[in-house]
Amino acid sequence: MKIETALSAGFCFGVKRAVDLVYKETAESELVYTYGPIIHNEEVTNDLSKKGVKVINSMEELKELPAGTIIIRSHGVSKAIYDELVSYGHKIIDATCPYVLKIHRIVMEQSEAGRYIIIIGNRNHPEVQGIIGWCKNTNPNKDDNTTVQKESLPNYIVMEDICEAEQFDLPTDTKICIVSQTTYNYNKFQELVEIISKKGYDIFVLNTICNATEKRQSEAYELAKKSDAMIVIGSKQSSNTRKLYEICKKECENTYYIQKLDDLDLNLFKSYRNVGITAGASTPNNIIKEVLTAMSEKSFEQLLEEEKVVEINNGDVVEGIVLGVKEDE
Ligand code: SF4
Repeated sequence: MKIETALSAGFCFGVKRAVDLVYKETAESELVYTYGPIIHNEEVTNDLSKKGVKVINSMEELKELPAGTIIIRSHGVSKAIYDELVSYGHKIIDATCPYVLKIHRIVMEQSEAGRYIIIIGNRNHPEVQGIIGWCKNTNPNKDDNTTVQKESLPNYIVMEDICEAEQFDLPTDTKICIVSQTTYNYNKFQELVEIISKKGYDIFVLNTICNATEKRQSEAYELAKKSDAMIVIGSKQSSNTRKLYEICKKECENTYYIQKLDDLDLNLFKSYRNVGITAGASTPNNIIKEVLTAMSEKSFEQLLEEEKVVEINNGDVVEGIVLGVKEDE
C-alpha cells in the first residue's frame, strides 16, 4: 500500500499562532480565558483545560469571573463583543487570524461606503457571525436571514448555496460587496459570484478565501483523484475539515472522516493500494502522525500477506512469510 500525506495537512498559520499564544499565556498568567474554544479540536482544548484555561461562551459568564487574560480566537468576534470585552478591563490578546481581520476591515469600509454586503459562507459559523458584526447597520436579530427582506434593516446577507444566490433579489441599482468565509470552497464561491454577477448589480468582489485553505483544498482534490481511499482527519465541528471531506468524497468514494486514530478501522484498508491522507487546519500534527504510523504498520503487514512465499521445510511445502521471495518465483 502506498500512503501519501498532503503537504498542507494540519495546523494552518492562523490556528498555530492562536494556539501558541494561549500556551504562552498559560505559562505567564494565572487566569486565562478563551472566548469560545480556541480551535475546533477536542484534543487541544482538553489539554488546555488541564492547564487551567477556561472557555467563556457568553458575556454573562465573563461578568462573574475575576480579572484575567481573555484570548480572542482565530475566528474573531463581532465589533460589539470586542468593545464589550475591552470595557471589562481584562487583558485582551487578540488572536484573530490576520486574514479574518482583513475581512472585518473590508466589510466595515464597504458598508460605510453604502454597499450591501454578501457574505458567502456558513451562517452559523463563528467566523461568519463575527464578520456580520463588522457590517455597518447590523441588526443582531437578523443574522440568520435566509432570504432578502427589502424592508428589513440589515445591509448584509449570508449565502450558503446556489439556491440562495439564485433567489437573491434587490433593486438592480444596489451596490454590492461580496466576501467569503476564509474556509469556503473556492469553486463554489466562484459559482455563486457568477450567478449574482448575471443579475446586473455594481459588484465589488473580494475573494477572501485564505491561501492556506485554497492550497489545502486543491491538494486534497488532487490526492483524492489518484487515491483508492482517502482519510480526512479533523474534528466533526471543524467546517474546513468537513469541506475537505466533501471535496475528497466527490473524487474518491472510499473517503473516511475520522477525528483520531481510534475512529479508524484499519481492516477497511486491506484492499486499497493507494491511500491519501489529509487533515483540517485545526488538526494537531501528533494525531496525523499517529494515523500515519498505524497505516504504515498496516501496510507492512499487508505486504507480508501479499508476498506469501513457500518454504521447503524438511521436504514439506509450507506457507511462510519470508519477504522477498514470491510464490511464483
Ligand atoms: Fe487564518 Fe486561513 Fe487558518 Fe483561517 S484557515 S485561521 S484564515 S490561516
